[in-house]
Amino acid sequence: MVIHLDGILSSLIIFTFIHIFQVINGEENRISSLEKRIQELEARQQQYPEVTFLTYKDRKRILVTGGAGFVGSHLIDRLMLEGHEVIVADNFFTGRKRNIEHWIGHENFELINHDIVNPLYIEVDQIYHLASPASPLHYMYNPVKTIKVNTMGTINMLGLARRVRARLLFASTSEVYGDPEAHPQKETYFGNVNPFGPRSCYDESKRVAEATCYAYAKQEGINIRIARIFNTYGPRMHMNDGRVVSNFILQALQNEPITVYGHGKQTRSFQYVSDLVDGLISLMNSNYSMPMNLGNPDEYTIEQFAFKIKDLVGSKAPIVYKDPVVDDPKQRRPDITLAKSWLNWEPKVLINDGLNKTIAYFRNELLVKHHSERNVFFPNEWLHTSDVPRTSTAKNIEL
Ligand code: NAD
Ligand code: UDP
Ligand code: UDP
Repeated sequence: MVIHLDGILSSLIIFTFIHIFQVINGEENRISSLEKRIQELEARQQQYPEVTFLTYKDRKRILVTGGAGFVGSHLIDRLMLEGHEVIVADNFFTGRKRNIEHWIGHENFELINHDIVNPLYIEVDQIYHLASPASPLHYMYNPVKTIKVNTMGTINMLGLARRVRARLLFASTSEVYGDPEAHPQKETYFGNVNPFGPRSCYDESKRVAEATCYAYAKQEGINIRIARIFNTYGPRMHMNDGRVVSNFILQALQNEPITVYGHGKQTRSFQYVSDLVDGLISLMNSNYSMPMNLGNPDEYTIEQFAFKIKDLVGSKAPIVYKDPVVDDPKQRRPDITLAKSWLNWEPKVLINDGLNKTIAYFRNELLVKHHSERNVFFPNEWLHTSDVPRTSTAKNIEL
């Protein structure tokens, strides 16, 4: 009997030990799965590049309309790194959240989903007014809206500038010169624009916008800056915007025919986006209030440009000639004497360097096959900092 009781007791003890062991084991498993979850959440948490600290006196509140677009997103990177508070107003017509997602959640950054054809009431010190489709394919897609954004949208932004006494920089274009008879184009040239054609929605509304800036400056004392931007290229350009740089690179990368419109003897001059950003910021902070060209005077025929891109990509794609485009400007090259003398600005990036970075971006873009994959472009200088935002799926471009 005693022996039997002992047996029961020892079984009980063994059973209790097994149970305690199972409980501890279960808890350990739970703890390690919780730890894993915490690690995952921490990894997902956004990290930001180090931004300069500016005191209240030096820090500006800056609105960038069209900030989710190609040029706007690069401008925002620079303004954020400089330590300013940046507000983006964009309706994502041609822009993408992806271009600026690395700033979302940062205390100096705010994104407003807003169509600037409607009024906007906020408090700012400076306005970079970039909102407008820029590629011919995009601005011809909805010509009425293109006119509205550049006329009504610009009036709204000037009304805002007037209410809060902010300085406004308007992103105008070399298209105000139309199909120019003067070459290279100086700011004093009045242009040769067809007011009744496929490009007129863009060209004429940009001209009206310039005139509106002038009127607000004269009548209301608004501080304005006007940048006449010439063809600009770089990473974050839209893949399907139909512009010559994106078309040629994509065609070359995929060994598809490179499509030259017309005989290809028309010329363009291409500036890399970082040069434009330098120019925009120095123009904004200068004392110059008349229109100013910002572009790279390095001029190519479109045919030459097709061969250049084909060579840089190392592509076997044939070059084919398609129908010419209506009202396609025959020659374009900026005279940048004004920018050189007033801003001490001139483009620094060589065409091959800029194109190689753009080709790398598009090559990665073509590799993206799933929504979770990201082709993230980080500006050069960020790659030397340890706190660059990276996600596990990000493909970083080697620059
Ligand atoms: P983009 O199309 O990449 O960017 C334009 C941005 O404006 C987009 O994010 C778009 O969603 C936004 N937008 C359009 N309509 C809007 C609206 N109604 N309300 C709010 N946001 C709106 O073009 P980009 O190349 O970055 O051009 C920026 C500016 O520079 C444009 O004003 C363009 O006319 C001017 N510009 C560009 C070039 C160039 O070569 N990229 C040349 C000359 C002038
Ligand atoms: N506006 C705006 N934000 C402001 C102030 C004005 O969007 O903070 C708009 C306003 O709705 C108007 C336009 O800007 O349609 C022009 O304003 P302005 O004060 O110049 O003219 P008014 O209001 O007299 O038409
Ligand atoms: N172009 C071309 N093939 C293309 C796209 C554009 O030959 O696939 C030409 C276009 O006809 C123009 C020049 O390249 O002469 C620049 O066109 P883009 O649309 O980039 O800008 P634009 O300066 O005309 O606004």
